[in-house]
Amino acid sequence: MEKDPQNREQEFSKHDNDWKDFFKTKFNQEPGVHLGGNEPKNKKKFTFSFWYFFIILLAFMAMNTFMATRQANVQSIDYNQFKSLISGGTIKRVAIEEEKYLGYTFTREQALGQLQDTNRTADVLVQSFSTYKVADDPTFIPLLDEHKVEYYATAPIKPSLLSSLLGYLLPIAFVLLIWRFVFSKMGGQGGQGVLSFTQNKSKIVAEGDTGVRFADVAGADESKYELEEVVDFLKNPDKYTEIGGKIPKGVLLVGPPGTGKTLLARAVAGEAGTPFFKMSGADFVEMFVGVGAARVRDLFKQARDNSPCIIFIDEIDAIGRQRSAAGIGGNDEREQTLNQLLVEMDGFDSRTGVIILAATNRPEILDPALLRPGRFDRQVLIDKPDLDGRHAILKIHTKNIKLADDVDLKKIAQASAGLAGADLANIANEAALLAVRQARKAVTQADLEEAIEKSVAGLERKSRVLNEKERERVAYHETGHALTAYMTEGSEPVSKISIIPRGLSALGYTLQYPTEDRFLLSERELLGNIDTLLGGRAAEEVVFNEISTGAGNDISRASDLVRRMIQEFGMSERYRNITLPTTQSGIAGVAGSREFSEKAQEYIDTETARIVNERYAIVRQNLEKNKNALITITKQLLENEVITGTEFQALAKSEVIV
Ligand code: ADP
Repeated sequence: MEKDPQNREQEFSKHDNDWKDFFKTKFNQEPGVHLGGNEPKNKKKFTFSFWYFFIILLAFMAMNTFMATRQANVQSIDYNQFKSLISGGTIKRVAIEEEKYLGYTFTREQALGQLQDTNRTADVLVQSFSTYKVADDPTFIPLLDEHKVEYYATAPIKPSLLSSLLGYLLPIAFVLLIWRFVFSKMGGQGGQGVLSFTQNKSKIVAEGDTGVRFADVAGADESKYELEEVVDFLKNPDKYTEIGGKIPKGVLLVGPPGTGKTLLARAVAGEAGTPFFKMSGADFVEMFVGVGAARVRDLFKQARDNSPCIIFIDEIDAIGRQRSAAGIGGNDEREQTLNQLLVEMDGFDSRTGVIILAATNRPEILDPALLRPGRFDRQVLIDKPDLDGRHAILKIHTKNIKLADDVDLKKIAQASAGLAGADLANIANEAALLAVRQARKAVTQADLEEAIEKSVAGLERKSRVLNEKERERVAYHETGHALTAYMTEGSEPVSKISIIPRGLSALGYTLQYPTEDRFLLSERELLGNIDTLLGGRAAEEVVFNEISTGAGNDISRASDLVRRMIQEFGMSERYRNITLPTTQSGIAGVAGSREFSEKAQEYIDTETARIVNERYAIVRQNLEKNKNALITITKQLLENEVITGTEFQALAKSEVIV
């Protein structure tokens, strides 16, 4: 996934400099890593107030110390010494405080200033003494009277508002400081996370104009076509609402990583000229419960304020995963976030012009509630690119690269079957780096080939690149499905055969689109479906005389179908029109209990095996008869990677002998 490159970087550096400069001048060192990294936009505000607060605090402390030193020439003495200073006549005036006596000695000097002429004198303070009161000394006041010492009592000193405020604030500031420090140590964004839980990270990535257009996305023509409609919704909403139509709120982009889902979402915003809010599903999920929900609220509020606009939620499976039924192992935070998302999606009127695009590569784990009408009810499939698609993507990504004359991008496209757009972009870049390393002025074919090797070796675990033998086997397997479907009466027409690896387990696939909506399948059609499923393995056996693991999924689906025919649909000989139900246990991995006899179970097992074997033999025989057709079509498939429905029908028509 792409990580919205420049925008964020620029914003960070701009705000970061403020505090970095401060840090440098103040402490003569670079700021620690704990403040850097993914700090978002709002850090500026926080950093500023934080440092100002710190400086003010220092100023107060300095002031306090200064005030304290002003009283420093008060000499603290013992009580009896104090008394003897009174009787000795040194102390002339006594201030009686709550806990202390303060004694002052004066000299009478000629007054200064305006009083100079009048020859008057004024008292000038020479020294102050202080002592703690001795409780209930009845001789003290008489002593003062006796020596004619002036005395007066002062009101107890109340702590000033300022100092009591400081008394409260200082510990709080201290705790906050430690908290921030600890969380920033715990990982980049913690400090921000703690002090601004609910602030929306999507603010950071709201782009005015994404600068991406449909022309920047190669291949994916069908997906583009579907998304063009979304652009039209955003541009001319009235066209749809005037006749009472509802504009869809959410579109789910489904496809493996790196196939350009983010790019397409950006292109939609770019084409429609609307702002683009991007968040990743994982951004919502924080360690504090409720934060994710608050973020969702915030995101939608922002989007409404900026409508028309696009919200893009990448990796929606992080929050959209099916909610747990029993509450065991549930994740409150994620579920709250998901609920909030559902509430927000239901709550807004599609006329506000906010359309939510979301991307996932695992649509099957999403909560069904997300896919209901009025939510993500549209799905757009973005698959790995075919040969032409790869060629086009390579063209786009080599546009700004100087290519030598010997470069043949078509060949590179052929050699990179199974790779996604992001991998191809990476290959183009890697080739350029290789050329530079060798001090060449242009990228050669050899550079590109080496780049493929490099990225394929690195990607081996990540994505599937089949070797020649495997490709051939997969091609025969898929052609086997397609031909069997063609030869089977009542089977739906083949609309596409592909040997571009897709998803996590499929190495190739044969698509059959029903010509009409089907609610019922006849026994004959069910058997036709089973035949088609078995066709892949049968073709492998016909050509290679051995079978492989590639058919695992087909076999299990075929056997399952046969079992259902017997148990659910009452289509077996012995239990014709009788169901043999199994109750579902409801707990994954635990088998349900059956409601029929052991004997019936035995019958189900042997009958399933008999039917599957019987069908397999027929399918194999048919393919054997049409081995030539199998070989011709497979060759074409190996060359083009994809055969469309019409191409296939034409080929089959001329080759197949029934
Ligand atoms: P996804 O969101 O599906 O994981 P991205 O949209 O993030 O994939 O794709 C990553 C990068 O790969 C894109 O920025 C782009 O450079 C490149 N890319 C992927 N698919 C295409 C495509 N169809 N056309 C052009 N570039 C593509």
